[in-house]
Amino acid sequence: MLKFLVRLYLLIIVTYAGALLLIPDAIVGAFHDRFMAYNLDQTRGIQSLIVRQFEKAPPAQWPAVERELAAAFDPLQVQLLRMDSAHLKPGERARLEHGQHVVRMADWGYYQVIMAPLDKTWVVRLTSPPDPLDINVLSWGVTVLIGAALLGCLLLWVWPHWRDLERLKETARRLGRGEMSERTQISPRSNIGELAGVFDTMADELERQVRQQRELLDAVSHELRTPLTRLDFGLVLLFDEVPPASRKRLLELVGHVRELDELVLELLSYSRLQNAEQVRERVEVSLLELVDSVLGGFAEELDSREIQWEVRADDALPRFVLDPRLTARAVQNLVRNAMRYCDRRLLVGLALEDDGSCVVRVEDDGIGIPPEERERIFQPFYRLDRSRDRSTGGFGLGLAISRRAIEGQGGTLSVTQSTLGGARFEIRLPPR
Ligand code: ADP
Repeated sequence: MLKFLVRLYLLIIVTYAGALLLIPDAIVGAFHDRFMAYNLDQTRGIQSLIVRQFEKAPPAQWPAVERELAAAFDPLQVQLLRMDSAHLKPGERARLEHGQHVVRMADWGYYQVIMAPLDKTWVVRLTSPPDPLDINVLSWGVTVLIGAALLGCLLLWVWPHWRDLERLKETARRLGRGEMSERTQISPRSNIGELAGVFDTMADELERQVRQQRELLDAVSHELRTPLTRLDFGLVLLFDEVPPASRKRLLELVGHVRELDELVLELLSYSRLQNAEQVRERVEVSLLELVDSVLGGFAEELDSREIQWEVRADDALPRFVLDPRLTARAVQNLVRNAMRYCDRRLLVGLALEDDGSCVVRVEDDGIGIPPEERERIFQPFYRLDRSRDRSTGGFGLGLAISRRAIEGQGGTLSVTQSTLGGARFEIRLPPR
C-alpha cells in the first residue's frame, strides 16, 4: 500500500513539475499576440513618464538624466542607448522608428525589457533584472508547499482506502488460515464497500461449502466405523469356527478391516482439525517432557530396530505455552516417519528462539525428500512414489494432519535437508 502511495505521489509530482515547465510556455506561445498587447498596455504609462523626464532636458544632459533615473528606479536598470547598439530585432526597430514603444517578454508572459524612442538615434531601455536568490527560494518554497499540500490531500484521500484494503487483506489471510467466520466488516459507505460486500458473500459461500464438506466427511466416517467394528468383531469370532487352513486368510481379512478402520480414524482427525475456530488448549508445558513422552511411546520399536536416537535441547529450556495434545500429535507423526525412513539415526532438537518462538526439529539420516516434493508431501493422501514407501504402510495423511495441528496454533511446519543426510522437519510455534 505504501508502494502504491509513493508511486501515485511521484506520478503527481512529476506531472505537476512537467506541467509547470511546459504549460506556461505553451499558453504564452499560443496567445503571444494577446500577451504582447497586454504588456504594451501595462507599460505605456511608465514608459511615457521616463521619456518625459528625458524630454524635459536638452540631449546633452541625457546621460545625467539617465544616471538620476537609474538611481531612482534601482534595482530596475534604466539605460540610454543608441538605436544601432541596442541589438534590436527587425520588428522592434520598425516600432521604435514609428515612435512606438517595445516590450520583450520573459517566462510566464511577464515583461522583462521595455524600450521607448527618444528621437531617431536614442532609445531608453528599462530592464527588470532576474529575481534575487531569496525571492527565488521563496517562489520555489511556494511550489514545494503546494507539493506538500498535495501529499497531505492524497494521504487524507488514501487513508480510508488503505485502512479498508488492509482489513480486506487481513480477512483474506485469516480465511486462508481456515478461520471461516471472518468477515471484512467494511461499511457499505466505504469506497470499496461494494468490493468488500462481494468478498463477504464469497466468504459466506465458502464457509457454507466447507461446513457441508466437513459434515459429510464426519458423517461418512462415523457411519463407516460402526459396520467396520462389527465386521472386525465378527471375523475374530469366526476364527475358532473356520478350518485351520482358512485361518491365515481370515487374519489377513481382519488386518484389512483394521487398516480401513485406521484410515477412517485418520480421516476423522483430519476433518476435525479443519475446524480452526475450535478452541485450542493453551497449557504451559516443559518441551523436554513432551518430547520424552512422545519418544517413550516408540522406545520399544527404536530399541528393537537398533536406531540411535538423541534429543538435543538448549540448556535451561523454559516452559512454553501450547496445545499439548495437538503438538504431541504432530511430533508423534514426525518421529514415526523419521523411524520409518531413517537408516540408523534419529535426532530431535528443541530450542527457544530469541523472538520467543519455540522450535522442534525432527531429523533422520534416511533417503530425505527431494526439494520439488517438499511442499506436496503436506497434501492429504500424497505419498512419494518410491519403492521404500510402499512397505511403510501409511495413508499419506500424517503430515497433512501434523501441519493442521501446528498451523491451528498459529505455527508453521516445514521440511528441509538434514545434516544427517535425510529429512529435517521443523515445527515453529509463536509465543502466546
Ligand atoms: P505416510 O503416513 O504415508 O507416511 P505422511 O503424510 O506422513 O504419510 O508422509 C507423506 C510422504 O512423505 C510419505 O509417503 C513419505 O514418502 C514422505 N516422508 C515423510 N517423512 C519422511 C522422512 N522422514 N523421510 C523421507 N520421506 C518422508
